[in-house]
Amino acid sequence: MKKSYDVIIVGAGVAGCFAALHLPPDRQILMITKEDITECDSYLAQGGICVLKDPSDYDAFFEDTMRAGHYENRKESVDCMIRSSKDVIEELMGYGVDFARNPDGTLEFTREAAHSTNRILHHEDITGEEITTHLQAAVKKLPNVEIHEHTRMVDLLTEKNRCDGIVLIDEDGKLQVVFASHILLATGGIGGIYENSTNYPSLTGDSLALCLKHDIKLEHLNYVQIHPTTFYSEKKERRFLVSESVRGEGAVLRDKNGERFTDELLPRDLLSAEILKQMAK
Ligand SMILES: Cc1cc2nc3c(=O)[nH]c(=O)nc-3n(C[C@H](O)[C@H](O)[C@H](O)COP(=O)(O)OP(=O)(O)OC[C@H]3O[C@@H](n4cnc5c(N)ncnc54)[C@H](O)[C@@H]3O)c2cc1C
Repeated sequence: MKKSYDVIIVGAGVAGCFAALHLPPDRQILMITKEDITECDSYLAQGGICVLKDPSDYDAFFEDTMRAGHYENRKESVDCMIRSSKDVIEELMGYGVDFARNPDGTLEFTREAAHSTNRILHHEDITGEEITTHLQAAVKKLPNVEIHEHTRMVDLLTEKNRCDGIVLIDEDGKLQVVFASHILLATGGIGGIYENSTNYPSLTGDSLALCLKHDIKLEHLNYVQIHPTTFYSEKKERRFLVSESVRGEGAVLRDKNGERFTDELLPRDLLSAEILKQMAK
C-alpha cells in the first residue's frame, strides 16, 4: 500500500464499486473493505432493484417513494434515483448482470411492498450477489484501483474543515496513515449492531461514528430500514431474510389463529409495527 492516493474509497459494496467505475481513469484509487470483499450487504440483497420502466410511471414511482419515506426524502435524490434508473440498469447489463426475462425475452418486472405497480428487476432471489459480483469484477480490472481486503478504517485525518486521509489497520494488523485529496465513505449501514439482523455483523456503522467525532454532517440517521420478514431461528446468527417480493407475488401473513391480519404490501415500517402488535399478543 502506498502512502498517498488521489482517492480513497472506504467500502467495496455496490456504492463503492459504482463510484470507482465512474471516477476518471487517471486517478489513483485505494479501495478498502473490512473483511472479504464479498462480506457486504450488497451481496445479500435478494428481491431486486426498482426501475422506471416507462416514463408514464414517473409520478407514481415518485409518490410511492416519498410516501414510503414519510415525505422526508430529499426530493432531488428521489428524482435522480428514478430518472437515472434505466441508464443504471443498462450499465449493469453492460457489465454482464443478468436480470430475469419473460418468455418473449423482455425484462420481467415483479412487485415489492409500497410500490403501486410492478417495477422491480431481479435475478432469481440473489439479485445483490449477481450485481455485486459483476461490479466487483469490473473494478478489479481497473488498473488505477488497488483493493485491500481485511483493512479497516479506524480514523479520519481532518483539519480546518478538510479531510486529508484516513488511519487504517491493514491486513497484517499494522496501523497506517494514508493520505488522499478525496475520501469517499461508502460504508453501508449499521445493521450489524442489532441483536437480530439480516445484515453482516461487521457492518457496525463505525464510519458514521467517525463522522460524528469529526463534525462531518450526516443526514437522516434516524431512518433505519427495518425489514418485516425473516426466518425465525433460536440460534444467534445472521437472520435469513424472506424477501419482500414474496409478499409482492401474493404471499400472506397470518396471526396465531391463522387469520390474515394486515395488508402485506404496507411500507416496511408500518408492516413491521403490525407484526410487532401480533407478537405482543
Ligand atoms: C438481507 C438483505 C436483503 C436486501 N435486499 C435488498 C433488495 O432486494 N433490494 C435493495 O435495493 N436493497 C436490498 N437490501 C439493501 C441493500 O443491500 C443495501 O442498501 C446496499 O447493498 C448497501 O450498499 P453499500 O455499498 O452502501 O453498503 P455495503 O454493501 O454494506 O458495503 C459496505 C462496505 O463498507 C465496508 N466498511 C464499512 N465500514 C468500514 C470500515 N470502518 N473500514 C473499512 N471498510 C468498511 C464494508 O466492509 C463493505 O465493504 C438488502 C439488504 C439485506 C441485508
